Amino acid sequence: MEIFKVAIVGAGPAGYFAAQALQNSQNEERIFAIDMIERLPTPWGLVRSGVAPDHPKIKTVSKVFEKIAADPNFRLFANVEIGSDITIKNLQEKYDAVIIATGSALGKTLGIPGEDLPGSISAATFVPWYNAHPDFADLNIPLDCQNAVVIGAGNVAMDVARMLALEPSELDPTDTADHAIAALKLSSIRNVYISARRGPEHAAFTSPELRELPKLEHTNVVINRDDIEAALARVGSEIEKDVKSNLDAMMLIADSERSQHERTMHFLFQHTPKEILGTDRVEGVVYSTPQGDVTIKCGLVITAIGYQAAPIDGIPYENGKVVNIDGRVAENLYVVGWAKRGPSGVIGTNKSDAAAVVELVISDLKGPKLAGDISELLTNQSVIDQLAWQKINEAEIAAGEPLGKPRRKAVSRAEFMHLGGL
Ligand SMILES: Cc1cc2nc3c(=O)[nH]c(=O)nc-3n(C[C@H](O)[C@H](O)[C@H](O)COP(=O)(O)OP(=O)(O)OC[C@H]3O[C@@H](n4cnc5c(N)ncnc54)[C@H](O)[C@@H]3O)c2cc1C
Repeated sequence: MEIFKVAIVGAGPAGYFAAQALQNSQNEERIFAIDMIERLPTPWGLVRSGVAPDHPKIKTVSKVFEKIAADPNFRLFANVEIGSDITIKNLQEKYDAVIIATGSALGKTLGIPGEDLPGSISAATFVPWYNAHPDFADLNIPLDCQNAVVIGAGNVAMDVARMLALEPSELDPTDTADHAIAALKLSSIRNVYISARRGPEHAAFTSPELRELPKLEHTNVVINRDDIEAALARVGSEIEKDVKSNLDAMMLIADSERSQHERTMHFLFQHTPKEILGTDRVEGVVYSTPQGDVTIKCGLVITAIGYQAAPIDGIPYENGKVVNIDGRVAENLYVVGWAKRGPSGVIGTNKSDAAAVVELVISDLKGPKLAGDISELLTNQSVIDQLAWQKINEAEIAAGEPLGKPRRKAVSRAEFMHLGGL
């Protein structure tokens, strides 16, 4: 029986699914001792800090992650950053294989004038703020304006627009960060414009998300029927199934009656942002449209136009992704998930992707190394291990219970250490 040591860097879905694939391929001849290393005090990646708080069902995948973590040969080293605390080279020397699963946390930019003005931010900032990510908790998001613009035509843009446009008390029974609920309750925003560069037939929204919009209890959702009719005419009868389903969902919204709600979410198609206006802060967005230039006045602009990976020393990057061939990066170094593919697909996409890379990992294995492990490199760190994380998890759930929330998230690193009994 041989024991191979594998380090997985990043405790998001891709990292857990890689661990699961390794566990599933154990047999009488080999087992895998897996060390998962995570820079945040908490695991689960974007399932905790990305997925919208009003979509709690999506987050139940965390139960699968905890089952993977319950294996006796699995160890969690959270609150440990690779690149600064410990290098990739350190890990490559000590482990039979190192799997990078660090996701892509940086928001892409538009590259238009005014993008750096106060009040112009990325979804990569706004989303972790409302999801209690410790690095974003202290931000002051300017919500003191009547109109906000969200630029992007995917589900992240839709999450962001919904979070701005819904009645904030709807967030009380969710795990939204306390600071975000408090700030959103004081928000003056009443109109949220979600703008797409191309027509409705090209939007990357998915239809279940579109279909839930008319169910928002306190928000009007407005789509111009002419935009959908024009899109239907453009696509003709050869329409793809997903596109048809999206256009049908949008038509339902276009046809639904407007109510007296004071909050409205407006969809704008064929609006290409040209410039963000303002002197001391954002005052509007200028778009070019087929009808000529149009300006939408607003005090907040959030771009949701994709993500790219944050570089880590010792790993080659290109176009916001780790340079790889089918997941192979270098000798005993691999990559999975968003760091490998870029920001695409659903959580489950990371499962098949990680399983394919793990097959390569296994086919490349030589005799097991006997060079120690990460614990020798951790001298001064306040490591949050699986046991400490379980305490934090239980404490958060218990704190949420009397408030009718699935959990009340801790935010500061000091709070995590305290809850973890460290
Ligand atoms: C706003 C938003 C909403 C989404 N909603 C949905 C949804 O409703 N349904 C759905 O199916 N999918 C959704 N997704 C997509 C889903 O979250 C991704 O497919 C998935 O999280 C990608 O997994 P990953 O493991 O590659 O990256 P991540 O989930 O980003 O995990 C990467 C992990 O690596 C850690 N890390 C980064 N750098 C280091 C380092 N140097 N050292 C140690 N650790 C590090 C990070 O802290 C993080 O925990 C959403 C994505 C976003 C952005």
